[in-house]
Amino acid sequence: MTTHPKDIIVIGAGLVGAIQALLLARAGNKVIVVERRSLLSTASVQDHFSSRTVALSHRTWQLLCGGNLWPSIDHCAIDTIHVTEQGKFGSVTINARDVSVEALGFVLSNTDFECYLHRLLKAEPGVEILEASKVQSLHQSTDKVTLIVEQQGHEQEIIADLLIAADGTGSAIRSMLGLTVDERDYQQCAVLANVATTKPHQHKAYERFTSAGPLALLPLSTKQDNGHVFSMIFTAAAADKEWLHGMSDEEFLSLLQKKFGGKLGRFEKIGKRVVAPLMLTVSARQVESRCVLIGNAARTLHPVAGQGLNLAVRDVFELASCLDSNSDVGLALKEFGEKRRRDQVLVTRHTDLLARAFTQKSWPLRMPLSVASSSSFLLLDFLNPLKRKFAQVSMGHHVPLPR
Ligand SMILES: Cc1cc2nc3c(=O)[nH]c(=O)nc-3n(C[C@H](O)[C@H](O)[C@H](O)COP(=O)(O)OP(=O)(O)OC[C@H]3O[C@@H](n4cnc5c(N)ncnc54)[C@H](O)[C@@H]3O)c2cc1C
Repeated sequence: MTTHPKDIIVIGAGLVGAIQALLLARAGNKVIVVERRSLLSTASVQDHFSSRTVALSHRTWQLLCGGNLWPSIDHCAIDTIHVTEQGKFGSVTINARDVSVEALGFVLSNTDFECYLHRLLKAEPGVEILEASKVQSLHQSTDKVTLIVEQQGHEQEIIADLLIAADGTGSAIRSMLGLTVDERDYQQCAVLANVATTKPHQHKAYERFTSAGPLALLPLSTKQDNGHVFSMIFTAAAADKEWLHGMSDEEFLSLLQKKFGGKLGRFEKIGKRVVAPLMLTVSARQVESRCVLIGNAARTLHPVAGQGLNLAVRDVFELASCLDSNSDVGLALKEFGEKRRRDQVLVTRHTDLLARAFTQKSWPLRMPLSVASSSSFLLLDFLNPLKRKFAQVSMGHHVPLPR
């Protein structure tokens, strides 16, 4: 139980907002969650073959287990990550054994995970939920935040010590605070779908860099087609969006086969395809007086390295820890910013570089990045300390656990 309980508003009950709210409530704070949708129930989860997934790093697993928030839902452990570049020799294989862990990460369904967290939120005594609700206005004084929230035509005023905005990439709270964003349009789009292969995944994840962008295949629970199903992120030039959209499943599977090759046998089935644009969006500031942005509201990364949620989970746990150890919200937010800056900058740069490295047309940028990446792929498989470092960042082990 915290020694400094506070009244806290969390806007958004996506994965990040839900984890944040649960941690804070369990520490003894009074938390109000405002979500514009209705919270999910088990009935919301229907077509598993078409559900979106997320890969959680080993560090995220450690944090969630420590916070008693690891979901009791179906998931797949990643034992090995295999990285290649199309048209180049060499590959990097990172194995859980290389870094002495039981799994490099875990893949689970976004909807199942969110549904699990929403069930916990509904059952948590310290949490009040305002679902299907909209923030109308926000006002800050030196030590309080006042919100007007509308729910089914009724307006109510909420006053709190702190507001945490976890309302996603297009954050309305960020706009209300007048915060600008730095954006990089990668001129890429991602095709997201689950695919089945004739060969089983054996708990291996694949990352293949192509001239059109990265292609990632993450293994899904062995309960799905006996371990033959992957979650796919297929990046392509933004200009190809309509063309990709218009393809039949057969045409798309044959394109995928050409890009990936025959390592997994034949790609023989595909679920619902979604095509999404890819951007890097970073808020000019994360903290504005009594308000703090978290998750996609603070920074939305390219999905190439599967780091967005993992980075946000480390933020969420550190924020909870800083609020717990400081009676003063301002001091807690200052400490949070100082502790998290290095990891945030490192992961944002690492992801941005990977997203651009293989698609640059202009040789001054393309050449050093390409040389660095392809030669490092070859070398990494031989140089164990370097490989360990690479694996540590992927697993989120380059930063210590919050207290
Ligand atoms: C293709 C793809 C693959 C990815 N894969 C990985 C991966 O493998 N590993 C990883 O770590 N990350 C991954 N990510 C990133 C990860 O999905 C995000 O980091 C994460 O989902 C961000 O969650 P969030 O809660 O911050 O935002 P969101 O999921 O966008 O949640 C925001 C919530 O706020 C609510 N909301 C919005 N506006 C308001 C409002 N005005 N009032 C009230 N509520 C509001 C929304 O309804 C929603 O519930 C991937 C991203 C993409 C695009």
